[in-house]
Amino acid sequence: MHPTEILLSQDQIQKRVAELAAEIRRDFPNDLHLVAVLKGAFVFLSDLVRHMSGHVSLDFMALSSYAKGTTSSGEVRLLKDLDTTLDGKNVVIIEDIVDTGLTLMYLQDILRARNPRALRTACLLSKPSRRQVDAKVEYIGFAIDDRFVVGYGLDYAEQYRNLPYIAVLE
Ligand code: 5GP
Repeated sequence: MHPTEILLSQDQIQKRVAELAAEIRRDFPNDLHLVAVLKGAFVFLSDLVRHMSGHVSLDFMALSSYAKGTTSSGEVRLLKDLDTTLDGKNVVIIEDIVDTGLTLMYLQDILRARNPRALRTACLLSKPSRRQVDAKVEYIGFAIDDRFVVGYGLDYAEQYRNLPYIAVLE
């Protein structure tokens, strides 16, 4: 399997990420706490925060995803928890991609129980045709078709996270 077609170029991604950052900042102009989901969201997060001024804090969580394959098991495990409390904070979850929505639904349930003042979600990519559960996503970078993509943080067997664009793996 190799990345073939470029689905989203570096320029397209950078432009959209700047727009998303502005949108999130408009909704939360003061204190904002971003919770990124490792490992896939690390590139998206790092570009996003550099378009935000003022008070922004970060924390990380790690969840299990697709082992080495390209299909969802539907099974979610918490591999690394947050370092700090969410109590009273304006929290935005930063996800790389929402596919079936199972991972996000699980995450939103855990985080909501921790009493944030607000809880919203931003994802770079969404595959609406694959959705199994209705996890709410307020900020979506791009809606894409049901194809397996890599790059810009997204991997296949830990490879291709370093690509600056999103490519289809075939
Ligand atoms: P969900 O629980 O929504 O089905 O899956 C979410 C997770 O599956 C994502 O965080 C990501 O790790 C993985 N995933 C879903 N679709 C893709 C894809 O097209 N490419 C890659 N690399 N990972 C994907």
